[in-house]
Amino acid sequence: MIQIVYQRKKCIGCNYCIELAPERWMMNKKDGKSVLLGSKNKKGFYTAEAYDEEYAANKALAKVCPVKVIHINKLSL
Ligand code: SF4
Repeated sequence: MIQIVYQRKKCIGCNYCIELAPERWMMNKKDGKSVLLGSKNKKGFYTAEAYDEEYAANKALAKVCPVKVIHINKLSL
């Protein structure tokens, strides 16, 4: 399993994350910021757990996010 952590407040709405993993990310047209699907919000940090199959795409989008607000951790079982 992996953990995706997203500091939503700093998102600038560039759309890169959605292009790379549309099954996990979508745009909120109201505020122009990305939404991490299946996440829980804790003080502005949105966290979701996902299967390892999503690791590569999410690691790649975390790298290209221009404001570096996405972090991917591998969870050990
Ligand atoms: S790549 Fe980063 S800045 Fe761009 S929409 Fe996704 S979270 Fe926001």
